[in-house]
Amino acid sequence: MGNSRSSLQLQPEDIEAIQEETGFNNNQIDRLYSRFSSLDKQDKGYLSREDFLRIPELAINPLGDRIVHAFFFESRSGDEDKVDFKDFVRVLAHFRPIKKSAEKNKLNTRMKKLQFAFRMYDLDGDGKITKKELKTVLTLMVGSNISEKQLDSIAERTIMEATLDNDDLMSFEEFAKVLERTEVEKKMSIRFLN
Ligand code: CA
Repeated sequence: MGNSRSSLQLQPEDIEAIQEETGFNNNQIDRLYSRFSSLDKQDKGYLSREDFLRIPELAINPLGDRIVHAFFFESRSGDEDKVDFKDFVRVLAHFRPIKKSAEKNKLNTRMKKLQFAFRMYDLDGDGKITKKELKTVLTLMVGSNISEKQLDSIAERTIMEATLDNDDLMSFEEFAKVLERTEVEKKMSIRFLN
């Protein structure tokens, strides 16, 4: 990999496993690896929250905090304060554009993208989106462009229309139904390796 830093060395079997799970090819993994290395300022072998906040695109993104949260939520290293290279690549794989040649069981399917989006709204991670959570995230997205009263009514209406069982909590199934006719595949695809 042309990287002499030992703490990040990847074995060929690691690369193979990452390819299998994420669908990224060798060359893409290589480039993500050097991106990861450059973010890992102290050569720790993992990224901390501070490392993520140094990414300018995230620092200025109103949802940056939620996106950073998602990286740590998805982490499998067992430590909730660390994102290792495999975690890093797994999260990014959700944003891979969906190709015509059907890729099965990959992280960029419509379902996986929807699940990822759902977690952006489910602030406390209990599997339901409350009106308050919806309003909080909407506020993050639109800033002060829309009045609090309007946001309140948007959140209220969305929850009301989405919750078929009238419990004022949006489940993942209800969330997916709301987005049924939305092109989630396109909206949640970033060509970050071009
Ligand atoms: Ca919740």
